[in-house]
Amino acid sequence: MSAATVLETEGLVKAFGDRVVLDRLDLSVDRHEVVVLIGASGSGKSTLLRTINLLEPIDDGQILLGGEDISDPRVDADRVRARIGVVFQQFNLFPHLSVLDNVTIGARRVHRTPKAEAEATGRRLLERVGLADFAKAHPDRLSGGQQQRVAIVRAIATNPELLLLDEITSALDPQLVGEVLDLVAELKEQGSTILMTTHEMRFAEHAADRVVFLSGGRIAEQGPPAQVLRDPQHADTRAFLSRLT
Ligand code: ADP
Ligand code: MG
Repeated sequence: MSAATVLETEGLVKAFGDRVVLDRLDLSVDRHEVVVLIGASGSGKSTLLRTINLLEPIDDGQILLGGEDISDPRVDADRVRARIGVVFQQFNLFPHLSVLDNVTIGARRVHRTPKAEAEATGRRLLERVGLADFAKAHPDRLSGGQQQRVAIVRAIATNPELLLLDEITSALDPQLVGEVLDLVAELKEQGSTILMTTHEMRFAEHAADRVVFLSGGRIAEQGPPAQVLRDPQHADTRAFLSRLT
């Protein structure tokens, strides 16, 4: 692996009972790279992101984060998760906490950042995404799009090495999708390293550095978005893309 590699899976195997979901998967993500994972429903996209975040034990292979084997069972999972920012489809903000507390809780609890410092960072980030006025509000006062932007701010508040975004716009009303994806595009401009799944192929086309198509637990095809999305070589990719339109 090169110095620019943030994430690397080598021969990653994950099965649920007899069902092999990830079958010796090799994937790497470089620093500042935005990789969009696509594949049929049930192809293992979420499972892959969950194994990287150590939410699912793996059956074989390795996962390296910044060169460290995080799949070693002796590794402290909380310490690894503190290096990764995650946003899921469902807005998983803490309903009883203010927006600002949601954004700062990771820095304060996990990284032991002093309250004043964590709040200064949190306010600056909320300002940047146009949500400063909601700092003291509870999440239920916000639209779904605003809640997902807060979830993204929470994920980046601790400067993670890697961001994992799993279908973060799938539960949103269509008119709210753009504001969330615009924020992801902005993070890309600022140099974040992102591994994400999305059904928004237009977004993938302009924001992804690389599109990875998963099929049969492996990478069937990958490359620049213009190649994979416009001129797919693999029959499964063609079938998947034709079902979308
Ligand atoms: P995707 O995100 O690509 O739609 P998933 O990773 O959610 O796919 O699921 C991949 C496969 O693994 C599916 O067949 C799903 O039913 C199965 N699966 C996922 N999580 C579990 C689990 N906790 N227990 C059993 N099977 C699971
Ligand atoms: Mg999924």
